[in-house]
Amino acid sequence: MKRLVFASNNAHKLEEVRRILAPLPVLSLHDVGFSAEIEENGSTLAENSLIKAQAVADWLSANDTLADTYVFADDTGLEIEALGGAPGVHTARWAGEPACDANNRKKALAELAGKTNRNARFCTVITLIEGIRTAYRQVEGEVKGIITTEERGTSGFGYDALFMPEGYDKTFGELPAEIKNGISHRARALEKLKELL
Ligand code: IMP
Repeated sequence: MKRLVFASNNAHKLEEVRRILAPLPVLSLHDVGFSAEIEENGSTLAENSLIKAQAVADWLSANDTLADTYVFADDTGLEIEALGGAPGVHTARWAGEPACDANNRKKALAELAGKTNRNARFCTVITLIEGIRTAYRQVEGEVKGIITTEERGTSGFGYDALFMPEGYDKTFGELPAEIKNGISHRARALEKLKELL
């Protein structure tokens, strides 16, 4: 089995990815000694996902090895229908720098105040780079739902306390991790990644 490196500094994402891909062992950036900040200056989720995977693959190639290694990265966006798909690629820093989940959630509630259309979706694009090959592959997963009128629940991260997936009457912040990890944008993209692996 090749080594599998997840190109993310987000501990919450890492935990979800490890649970969803178990029993496959997933190495973190910390595990491989990568500690640089990656500037995500792409204009789409797909571009940012590739930027992250490529930065780590390049670093491994120069400082360690890319042989027998898969590198994958996740970029995620929240798209709110009534806001024309915002924040989309700006999801992480919607409320400004430095990125702050609590401020982002407050902004989402403020932007939707008084609006009846609260439809939204999460979308994740995963990029996979395999060994020293220059080609990469991308897979996508989405989950539709609505933005609640107040924060509900404390599990998960990011916008989870505001996002109620279709078919449920609880937010990702209220649902157990096993449920989120069965139906989420990330879970759906990771299912497709498993097929590629
Ligand atoms: P990025 O993919 O790391 O750039 O994250 C984009 C933004 O989406 C950040 O604000 C994250 O906190 C948020 N985010 C990413 N994944 C999730 C999720 O599964 N639930 C809720 N928010 C998320």
